[in-house]
Amino acid sequence: MFTLPPLPYELNALAPVCSAETLEYHYHKHHQAYIDKLNALLASDTTHSEGTSQWTLESLKELVKTAPAGALFNNAAQALNHQLFWQQFQAPKEQNKPEWALEQAIIQQRESFEAFQAAFETSALNNFGSGRTRLVKTPSGTLEIVNTSNAGNPLTDGKIPLLTVDVWEHAYYIDYRNRRADYLKNFWKIIHWEYIATL
Ligand code: MN
Repeated sequence: MFTLPPLPYELNALAPVCSAETLEYHYHKHHQAYIDKLNALLASDTTHSEGTSQWTLESLKELVKTAPAGALFNNAAQALNHQLFWQQFQAPKEQNKPEWALEQAIIQQRESFEAFQAAFETSALNNFGSGRTRLVKTPSGTLEIVNTSNAGNPLTDGKIPLLTVDVWEHAYYIDYRNRRADYLKNFWKIIHWEYIATL
């Protein structure tokens, strides 16, 4: 059985960028629902659950890499996507930037950190429908901005997600209604760059 992983902060810790009400729905209802559905699917799927009594983050990643397209992949990937999403935040800070080494790696790909932020926001704004926009590390070590749809995770292409913005409407509709661009502008304030540098 998978269980909902604890949030690394209180429900109101990310306000006003992301309100307690948004977290109440996004974490306690949406994330929980993916985990419940995944457990129900695994209970009737011995191919993927046999011999596994203790599910960990690593075994969840393996499941996402090997599950066939369909409900099992969708719910496993959404369980993973949300677990990774919550880990990357901390209380809001103005002038929030990565530490030196990661900032230099980003600047190597995009002229400046601000140019990277603009490219990331544009990519997320143009990510049609439900999905995620990420900064990923490729197998050759370069950094890329990647859009995925629905439950997609770049791990299935051998890329390691570093920074992720969830642009499903459930991620921002309570606080920002249809203003995805405002959500994206504020998103930068709550990024826990020290954590991201460890990925
Ligand atoms: Mn979500």
